[in-house]
Amino acid sequence: MPLELRPNCECCDVDLPPDAEAFICSFECTWCASCAASLSMRCLNCGGELVRRPIRPPEKLRSAPPSSRRVTRALPCPGPR
Ligand SMILES: [Zn+2]
Ligand SMILES: [Zn+2]
Repeated sequence: MPLELRPNCECCDVDLPPDAEAFICSFECTWCASCAASLSMRCLNCGGELVRRPIRPPEKLRSAPPSSRRVTRALPCPGPR
C-alpha cells in the first residue's frame, strides 16, 4: 500500500500537492510545514512523531495517484492563522 498522499493540511486546510513539503505521522495524519512546526513535530491526533512526507516521483503519480480525499479536523488546531 503506497502512502495516501492526502491533498491538504488537516489543521489549516492549505493545499499540499504531492510535491509540497508536508509532514505526516505513522497514521498518515497530514500537516503543512508551519502547522507541524507549531505542533512541535508531534501529531495532534495521535501524539506520534511527524516526519517529512517523501516526494513521490512524478512518473509514479500516474500509476499511484495522490489521494483526493480531504481530511480536516473537527476541532480547532493551535496552528497559526
Ligand atoms: Zn497547516
Ligand atoms: Zn497521527
